[in-house]
Amino acid sequence: MGLYRTEALVLRSRKYAETDSLLTLLTQKRGKVKAIAKGVRKSKSSLRGGVQLFTHNEMLLYEGRNLDIVTQSQCLEAFTTVQDDMAAMTAACYWCELLDSFVPEGEKDIRLFMLALAGFHILALDYQELVMRALEIKLLFQLGYMPDLVHCVSCGRSLQGEQQIAFSARRGGVLCATCLEGDALAFTPEALKIWQQLQQLEFSKLKRLKVTSSGLHILDEVLEKFLLVQLERPLKSRPILKEIWQAKKS
Ligand SMILES: [Zn+2]
Repeated sequence: MGLYRTEALVLRSRKYAETDSLLTLLTQKRGKVKAIAKGVRKSKSSLRGGVQLFTHNEMLLYEGRNLDIVTQSQCLEAFTTVQDDMAAMTAACYWCELLDSFVPEGEKDIRLFMLALAGFHILALDYQELVMRALEIKLLFQLGYMPDLVHCVSCGRSLQGEQQIAFSARRGGVLCATCLEGDALAFTPEALKIWQQLQQLEFSKLKRLKVTSSGLHILDEVLEKFLLVQLERPLKSRPILKEIWQAKKS
């Protein structure tokens, strides 16, 4: 029990009691925490600027039994560009939802915090499909949810250089043509290569990556199913973002 100071990203904010907000934060020092910002919905609240969605803050929190309490917060950076554009905002909402859904509470992980922050930075500039797929893959990798992309998950044979491959989200990896099962998804060497590149490449190098729209489409389907199987429920913002992108293309 006591006070602690930490950098924090606001992943979720909802109304609580008369004038409070219940926040889900990703903090640098304590991982994901739930905290109350008291009286923050009053117009004169001094906390107000430091507890908004899509902001990076320096916070002083009081550790409570169930919920922590935000006692001070200073906004270090607000990703305001995100709020000017529907697609960018949906992409940022999706990033918050992904983090909130996959990150367990109370586990300190500094690399995860850096990835989350980098995600907000890049989404404020660019929120194309490739960027979003990179964020999904890097998050899965950081949290240890990676499928086997090298060996057939059924017979164990190495599939390097193989042209005929499929992906089983349920079994968590690639399948060879012999072991193909009913619920497996189409997968291609190109889509597999994009996955590996997105996992390894820094965000600054994404622009140089050459991918076909069919490769990206296959990767999208595979990731959608893989995320669903891992989470055991669909992600709400993902289909909305997909619709926005599709409308932009047509
Ligand atoms: Zn096999």
